Amino acid sequence: MPTAEPPDPIHCDALVIGAGPVGLFQVFQLGLQGITAQVVDALPVPGGQCIELYADKPIYDIPAVQVCTGRELVDRLLTQIKPFAPTFNLGQTVTTLAPIEGGGFDVLTSKGMRFICRSVIIAGGVGAFAPRALKVDGIDRHLGRQLLYQTPAAADLAGRQVLVLGGDEVAVATAIQLAQAQDDRPARITLMHRRATLNAEPHTLARFQSLQGSGALQFEVGQVLSIEEDNSPERRLVAVQMIGDDNTQRRLPTDAVLVLLGLSPKLGPIALWGLAMERRQLQVDPVHFETSTPGIYAVGDVISYPGKKKLILCGFHEATLAAFAVAARLRSGPPQPLLYTTTSALLHQRLGVLTPPRSSTVS
Ligand SMILES: Cc1cc2nc3c(=O)[nH]c(=O)nc-3n(C[C@H](O)[C@H](O)[C@H](O)COP(=O)(O)OP(=O)(O)OC[C@H]3O[C@@H](n4cnc5c(N)ncnc54)[C@H](O)[C@@H]3O)c2cc1C
Repeated sequence: MPTAEPPDPIHCDALVIGAGPVGLFQVFQLGLQGITAQVVDALPVPGGQCIELYADKPIYDIPAVQVCTGRELVDRLLTQIKPFAPTFNLGQTVTTLAPIEGGGFDVLTSKGMRFICRSVIIAGGVGAFAPRALKVDGIDRHLGRQLLYQTPAAADLAGRQVLVLGGDEVAVATAIQLAQAQDDRPARITLMHRRATLNAEPHTLARFQSLQGSGALQFEVGQVLSIEEDNSPERRLVAVQMIGDDNTQRRLPTDAVLVLLGLSPKLGPIALWGLAMERRQLQVDPVHFETSTPGIYAVGDVISYPGKKKLILCGFHEATLAAFAVAARLRSGPPQPLLYTTTSALLHQRLGVLTPPRSSTVS
């Protein structure tokens, strides 16, 4: 039988692992150095903690920005890096990072992409964000068929007794979407959350309550305790046993569990790449931000060095120095002079802005 061909690798000068605020600013600083970056992030959108953990909360300590939300900061960073046209490879985790004999690195992702890079900058923060798992005995053997962490195509849930777990905007909106499906509607939709209060936008909650009132969906306050399977050879999931906030237990017929409990970060693969670590953080030198493997740099929350502070501002500084170090590594020849974005025609060219004409002297 023919075996699947490995994917054609993408060759690049710099690969940034992590599209949090520091990874995004890393792209900017590399761009100023004339280096175009490939970016990989486990999340489907850029922004890291700013988007996942506090998108609509205010930040007050970004220099020269009196206040902005996490989302606004990410939007500004994305606008700022536009001239450098990075390629985002989102929704996939970098699983393998290995040096290549003779120089460079071989990088693989969970979606099967492969990069051959001359340098790597790890901006992995507190780790790759992954769906928070449902921890119930025996449930994992139903993964992909009756236990789902992503909303499948509507047809896959048609006629099924669907239990949606979660209480945030995504979970509530998903329950609504299933209840409103024209064709391929599930036979029953139940949203279960451990608290009676749902954390969603007012208009989403209003729609949810109206569908609940009409019986199009149900809401349960409680948690799943155990699962019930039938006697078929596949041992199909047929129900869950739940405990309500009133401490009573009841059986809920269920043949599809959609887990939308949010995301949690996992350092995961980064710890397996053979790089020196201290208390689960990458050790770097605070001049070049290089790890214990030459050519692999690290910046932001993922690193540790004397005096390190887990602040966005500090990550921006680290990314700036790392970009200088990457540039020095990739270019042979004498060290480049420091250029100012205010006055350098070369930086203006890289930024795609016009160099203002020299002002003429008035005598
Ligand atoms: C509630 C809260 C409020 C905060 N408020 C402030 C504040 O006011 N001011 C301030 O300066 N800081 C604040 N911080 C801290 C700030 O958010 C972090 O310092 C900052 O997000 C670090 O940025 P980063 O890019 O290093 O990492 P992150 O934002 O964590 O981004 C890392 C990215 O890397 C990805 N990743 C990791 N591993 C992999 C892998 N193997 N493959 C692919 N992708 C991977 C992750 O999915 C993630 O998107 C706050 C933090 C929290 C939790």
